[in-house]
Amino acid sequence: MYQSPATYGLDLEPLKSTISLPYQLTPGRATGTFLAELAKRRIVASRCRACARVEVPAQDVCSCGSDELDHVELGHQGELRGFTRTPDFTLARVRLDGADCDLLHRLSGAADWQVGMRVQAAWAAEAKGSVLDLAGFELATKTTITKPTPLTEAAEPILSIPTSLTLHFRHAHGPYYGRLFDEMKTAGRILGIRCTKCHSVLLPPRELCDVCYVKTGTWADIADHGVLQAFSIIHLKFVGQTREPPYVYAEIMLDGATTKIIHILEGVDIAAAPRNLKPGMRVKAVWKAERKGSLGDISHFELEAPQG
Ligand SMILES: [Zn+2]
Ligand SMILES: [Zn+2]
Repeated sequence: MYQSPATYGLDLEPLKSTISLPYQLTPGRATGTFLAELAKRRIVASRCRACARVEVPAQDVCSCGSDELDHVELGHQGELRGFTRTPDFTLARVRLDGADCDLLHRLSGAADWQVGMRVQAAWAAEAKGSVLDLAGFELATKTTITKPTPLTEAAEPILSIPTSLTLHFRHAHGPYYGRLFDEMKTAGRILGIRCTKCHSVLLPPRELCDVCYVKTGTWADIADHGVLQAFSIIHLKFVGQTREPPYVYAEIMLDGATTKIIHILEGVDIAAAPRNLKPGMRVKAVWKAERKGSLGDISHFELEAPQG
């Protein structure tokens, strides 16, 4: 039955994936000192010898360009200069007494926040070497104005902070992968698409032939069996691996296709595989009983003629 391409793949679960990027954040010496000093419940700013500007968190270079700076300790109070609510917390600009710039931090505690209110530091019960050792700012109980004083016995700066950026993706299948996966799910059928110029049958199907750069044309049936082209025996463990090594990763050219797919080859004696497995051997797909519409609907491939 004819379906408009845009309707393919709509019933399929979007492909979910997560990318984690662990990295080391380097705050620099001055901000590293600011972070380390929070554990002692001290708020460290820098004061410029050239222009006398006081910046918090402490900076290595003043906004006037001078790098002749001294560390100073600020009091714990200041004025609320602005705030914005997020689903998780209220983010505020706080002008600590004696500072020439605002410190961006959270507000803690429920209050009818107004710009101009006096606020005071609220500390985490336990210091962990993070900016959240200063948990945020709360309404000041009584006004105490403290002038900046030279910092004594500065802590060793925190120079490196392990952190991780995690990105969650939901991939839309689009009409080409959508149809491929729909047909795999509902009919156990593999479809490629033919280039109108070179007549290659591309698997997975796509809009353009990546050799000719022309639009692909008609859909073409591809068998669920084909030829082993190459293989690797995986012994190493790595992040994101879906099965325990050792196993065989195979490049397979399915009958009717011009491009290869990569899949797992099972049912082979791993120790003997380097001798016994040869390019050109015939392999066939083993489908899962329950298909969801993905290349994972093929559990694995196995040799058509069992290994002798
Ligand atoms: Zn300056
Ligand atoms: Zn082509």
